Amino acid sequence: MNIAFFGVGNMGGPMAANLIQAGHTVRVFDLLPALVEAAVASGATAAASPREAVTGAEVVISMLPSAAAAQGLYLGDGAADAGILDAIDPAALIVDCSTIDAATSRALAARADELGRVLIDAPVSGGVGGARAGTLTFICGGPAEAVERARPLLETMGRNVFHAGDSGAGQTAKICNNMLLGILMAGTAEALQLGVDNGLDPAVLSAIMAESSGSNWALKVYNPWPGVMPEAPASHDYQGGFGVALMNKDLRLAQEAALRSCSTTPLGALAKSLYGFHAAAGGEGYDFSSIQRFYARGHEP
Ligand code: NAD
Repeated sequence: MNIAFFGVGNMGGPMAANLIQAGHTVRVFDLLPALVEAAVASGATAAASPREAVTGAEVVISMLPSAAAAQGLYLGDGAADAGILDAIDPAALIVDCSTIDAATSRALAARADELGRVLIDAPVSGGVGGARAGTLTFICGGPAEAVERARPLLETMGRNVFHAGDSGAGQTAKICNNMLLGILMAGTAEALQLGVDNGLDPAVLSAIMAESSGSNWALKVYNPWPGVMPEAPASHDYQGGFGVALMNKDLRLAQEAALRSCSTTPLGALAKSLYGFHAAAGGEGYDFSSIQRFYARGHEP
């Protein structure tokens, strides 16, 4: 298929590479030329503009950092920039994989519908490792038939495709998951620091907890202590992965949703506060597992 792909960062880069690997023709657009060059090196072609990228595309995929970026891409910012929605073939399927608020996803889908296009939200879980391995979980919102149309392509990049409900439901499920992830990562870092401060080896403690009742994804797949897992961002000075800024965005989205629904989310609120403090103290540019440093108080790591 001819695919237009927007946003080839930590996640979008390997996702686009997997589509190319599967034999699709992928035309990419990103604001950072170095990332476009990297995508071209893995077999993509570069588009000179967003509208050029969608010309002739049968599927449009976006993997952007924020609601403002998704809104800007699809709807533009006013008279000077009309966005890409009306330039997309009405027969094409539009899949926004960015994690953004459900209301913006619903607004994008509604505008697409007015213009005779179909847009689904399909945020992902699984991290950069899952994007590279093609084992992501896609959490979709939108009409069931559109999700079924997208399924074969999504299965090229992932292992699980869930239909959470109507437009925006994918985003709601995703922020519930990421609120839990933020809590679990902070809790895992806290437990590891307690063990190390009391003389334990973090690798031994991790192996024990991984087989005990405290086991969780952050501990087993994405361990925050440097050196415990050679592949994890913690073992690479917390570079790459899922940025603290993106975790803060998701924890903010979760708290905004909780305010709207009057839900009680004290641990989500505390996690938001912890990551906010960590970002302000210099953690902003690192992977979210660097929350470990928040607990270190000058000790390792
Ligand atoms: P990233 O910052 O590495 O990549 C985003 C890319 O989008 C950047 O290269 C940026 O230049 C580009 N971009 C921004 N505006 C654009 C525009 N208008 N047109 C084209 N490109 C544009 O972020 P990421 O880690 O790849 O995350 C992307 C999305 O995936 C976020 O919404 C994030 O919350 C979500 N997510 C990330 C992870 C993870 O582990 N990194 C996991 C699950 C979900």
